[in-house]
Amino acid sequence: MKIHQMLDQKGYDVQAIDRHATMEQAVGVLGEKNIGAVVVTDGDGSVCGILSERDVVRHMSRSGPGILTAAVDDYMTKNVVTCTRDADLQDVMEIMSKRRIRHLPVVEDGKLVGIVSIGDVVKRKIELAEEEAESLKQYIAAG
Ligand code: AMP
Repeated sequence: MKIHQMLDQKGYDVQAIDRHATMEQAVGVLGEKNIGAVVVTDGDGSVCGILSERDVVRHMSRSGPGILTAAVDDYMTKNVVTCTRDADLQDVMEIMSKRRIRHLPVVEDGKLVGIVSIGDVVKRKIELAEEEAESLKQYIAAG
């Protein structure tokens, strides 16, 4: 299964924030949208970072709430791992597992077009397993 097949079902909605926004604004997005990570973009819309709830917790526990007035740019992860719409679901799962990341922005021609979370991947995997079990049941019943 390809990532675009999953995105066609789940939707292409993705939350992004400018690198000059404050950490407080980013925390606001995470909280209001009930999501685990926000993609950080440059003025031209290209992906330049990612900030997950873990980053917020880690930096806040080290440096305190003062970080909330700093720019997202200071605390985001800059070396972002991304995938394309054409990537295989299996490959995305392996990347997430090996690199211990739960979010993979989907990028096409340098522009952010979606995001895949580990929750999306697990949900789709369960659906695929159920579909396979159902078709096996029907095959056995038909025999
Ligand atoms: P997460 O598992 O998404 O909560 O993120 C755990 C750590 O990995 C945090 O430091 C994130 O900033 C970082 N991270 C999450 N997603 C990515 C990604 N796609 N590329 C690079 N780093 C990431």
